Amino acid sequence: MAMLELRGVNKAFGGLQATTNVDLTLNEGEIVSIIGPNGAGKSTLFNLITGVYRPDSGDIRFEGRSIVGLKPNQIVDLGIARTFQNLRLFTNLSVLENVLISQHHKLRSTWLSAVLRTPGYRRQEREMHERALQKLAFFGPRLMSFRLHQPVYVLSYANRRRTEMARAMATGAKLLLLDEPSAGMNPKETNEITGIIRRMRDEGGYTILLVEHKMNLVGEISDRVVVLDYGQKIAEGSYKEVVNDPRVIEAYLGK
Ligand code: ADP
Ligand code: MG
Repeated sequence: MAMLELRGVNKAFGGLQATTNVDLTLNEGEIVSIIGPNGAGKSTLFNLITGVYRPDSGDIRFEGRSIVGLKPNQIVDLGIARTFQNLRLFTNLSVLENVLISQHHKLRSTWLSAVLRTPGYRRQEREMHERALQKLAFFGPRLMSFRLHQPVYVLSYANRRRTEMARAMATGAKLLLLDEPSAGMNPKETNEITGIIRRMRDEGGYTILLVEHKMNLVGEISDRVVVLDYGQKIAEGSYKEVVNDPRVIEAYLGK
């Protein structure tokens, strides 16, 4: 059974068809990249999978169950987390606090157990803390240092991206949707994030769907590449196959 399966997914905004009849399958343990020119519908697809938008028609299944109509927080609870093209961190909170709060939906407690700080409540807090550090450790000393306790607003853009990725991982998700993880990063940082995404799969056990513009990153880590243009899937295959596909070349050159 596929981990994620989209069948004939359509979404229009007014007269604009943002995704047309999109089919997409993602198997456990895969890294799949979605590429395509600006406005192709890549972020819209993420918004459909994460319940921000509801498809006009078609089905989206996660682990065999339709998730159409579920709220974004219910979809996170099932195990799908994401990062945003435009980062969404609490900039006044520290790196660690940002990663900790992404787990709060899992805290099983009553108001009273929190106020009394019962042993059960404190144990959960400890586990959340350990999980946050475990995810942050993927990013090495760039985050696992004095920076843990710095407010996000003092961080570099690359470190904010890393924090957002750690936050998505800490939700307990199995499937991570990364929207342009290397945006705003220099070549050295892009190289490093490429290695980290691979380790997120190999060591963290995550399945990963990403949207990315940097073709060297896409070519290096993708098991499969899906190409969108004007909301339609125009090609799918290995990186080599899709970049040599005349329709893909035309979609990029035609802009
Ligand atoms: P990409 O991420 O591939 O650059 P998007 O998914 O953001 O593309 O956008 C696809 C198309 O849908 C674009 O033409 C965009 O303007 C339009 N679009 C996206 N979100 C909305 C929205 N909330 N309302 C109206 N139009 C939207
Ligand atoms: Mg986008």
